[in-house]
Amino acid sequence: MLFTKEIFGLVPRILIVGGGYAGFYTAWKLEKWLRKDEAEIVVVDPLPYLTYQPFLPEVVGGSVEARHAVVNQRKHLKRAKVITAKVTGIDHAARTATITPEVGEPWQLEYDQIVVTAGSVSRTFPIPGVADLAYGLKTIEEAVAIRDRILTNFDKAANLPPGPERERLLTFVVVGGGFAGIEVFGEMRSLASYLLRYYPQLTFDDTRFHLIEAMGRIMPEVSLPTSHWVLKNYAQRGAEVHLDTQLKSAEGGRIELSTGESFETDVIVWTAGVMASPMLKNTDLPIEERGRLRVKPDLRVVTAEGEVVPDAWGAGDVAAVPDLTGKGVGGMCVPNAQHAVRQGKLLAQNIAAALRGEGVKDYYHASLGAVAGLGLYEGAFQSGRIAIKGFPAWVMHRGYHGLAIPTWERKLRVIANWVLNFVLGRDIVSLQAVQQPRVAFETYASRPRPSVEAAPAAAAVPAAVPARAAVAAAPAATVVEPVAAEPAAKPARARRKAEPLPAETAEPKPARTRRPPVEPEQPPLPGAKGVEAPIYANPAPEPEPAKK
Ligand SMILES: Cc1cc2nc3c(=O)[nH]c(=O)nc-3n(C[C@H](O)[C@H](O)[C@H](O)COP(=O)(O)OP(=O)(O)OC[C@H]3O[C@@H](n4cnc5c(N)ncnc54)[C@H](O)[C@@H]3O)c2cc1C
Repeated sequence: MLFTKEIFGLVPRILIVGGGYAGFYTAWKLEKWLRKDEAEIVVVDPLPYLTYQPFLPEVVGGSVEARHAVVNQRKHLKRAKVITAKVTGIDHAARTATITPEVGEPWQLEYDQIVVTAGSVSRTFPIPGVADLAYGLKTIEEAVAIRDRILTNFDKAANLPPGPERERLLTFVVVGGGFAGIEVFGEMRSLASYLLRYYPQLTFDDTRFHLIEAMGRIMPEVSLPTSHWVLKNYAQRGAEVHLDTQLKSAEGGRIELSTGESFETDVIVWTAGVMASPMLKNTDLPIEERGRLRVKPDLRVVTAEGEVVPDAWGAGDVAAVPDLTGKGVGGMCVPNAQHAVRQGKLLAQNIAAALRGEGVKDYYHASLGAVAGLGLYEGAFQSGRIAIKGFPAWVMHRGYHGLAIPTWERKLRVIANWVLNFVLGRDIVSLQAVQQPRVAFETYASRPRPSVEAAPAAAAVPAAVPARAAVAAAPAATVVEPVAAEPAAKPARARRKAEPLPAETAEPKPARTRRPPVEPEQPPLPGAKGVEAPIYANPAPEPEPAKK
């Protein structure tokens, strides 16, 4: 029965754009509250996992294993169909979304209800050098890269005599004194202090930490006295916070501040705010002044005139959700996980109610307070006038987030790892070389000799060329077939009646023979002249900042 209904398009399709915090919970709860024959749930996200962003600072600090801070959508969403691709456009008038996968052509997906939960991206300003050198802190990849960079910089610095280069490698900068910035700053400081015991060549005074904040205070979510306590705590730990200070330039890694101060760094982490996902601009959905999706308190999309847009919903960082407690910024909920998870749950409830012709509820959530981890054994908590600082707040931070990460499987992994770290210490292995995973293999790999026809071309290649260049010069041993095109755009809504998702109907593609993958974006191998010295242990070469 269900099969027949789905085939003939009789089951309404709910398309969820973004399987992050709000989107994942919407899908998860829809699976629970809707019967199989009531709706088909489709989640589209370019990432195959939800990222539990509150753990990103602890991933940087080496206290949470990177894979444990993400939740696989396919594993935990049992009924929803997961499509790993971007939604690059929404034509809500035609109830059609454009799906753009990483490989293959964009295609159209029709839907009956749309849920926009595409989250936010780092908000930046046109400061020289920032776009080229800084790391954001919104993804697990960024957190891992920052952690590995710190660890690798310690390895490099330990080989250098005291001087400007060593100082540059051990100078770390965070821009933005909000929660994310303060947390990652504390974790970075904590990691660096821990590392020193393994580097007898380096001292505490060799490491420098700067946080740059344009406002006159940090962490607007906590009271002024609590924020002062955090500043004092960081000062005692050798981490300098520059208040009322703007970053003027970071070009070539040279930090120039509005105060006139200037220094060199190798690691800049940008956490100065977020903005709604720019994918909204390619939709016909109403957007408010700050670029967010306009929604009513019941999470239905609404026009500026207050008219409900039928069949469209939004939640999380991407949406301007009115805060009915009256405490929101500009009357709206602030972008945080506390709201995203609750809005996701309500969204599922409201969609189920709407499909059954029942009434929908408004979103109302009074903040539970804010708790921040400031590095191992340090934390700060604020709820109304109650402030807890230091170790007890750190325990609360761990307790809260250990239980808040979705799925028991993830909770167990995170908590078990904390217990292991308590006994064994944190893991300080840098896997920065993972960015060039084929170097070791490619250095020693045998390659076919060039054929007679290709000989002249091959002769032009010097004898000791890097292995990668030799691959480019060698004739292809096998034919690489073009990627089969994805199904063409389906124009009419009626067409869906007989067409389930393309992934379900796709013909098995003929087997392809492949050339070993060549990674053209990687620079030539460093020092790959011969085979004597294994070079895979070398970290990936980083762009050297201009020295003055
Ligand atoms: C470092 C850090 C620490 C934080 N700490 C806390 C904290 O302690 N407490 C707290 O409450 N909050 C915290 N937050 C905020 C919280 O994590 C976010 O508010 C929350 O994740 C928002 O959920 P969301 O579902 O709206 O967005 P996200 O969780 O970001 O999910 C959005 C999803 O949409 C996907 N997407 C994007 N574009 C497209 C597209 N075009 N098509 C399809 N999918 C798309 C993304 O890949 C992503 O998976 C922190 C954030 C950061 C960065």
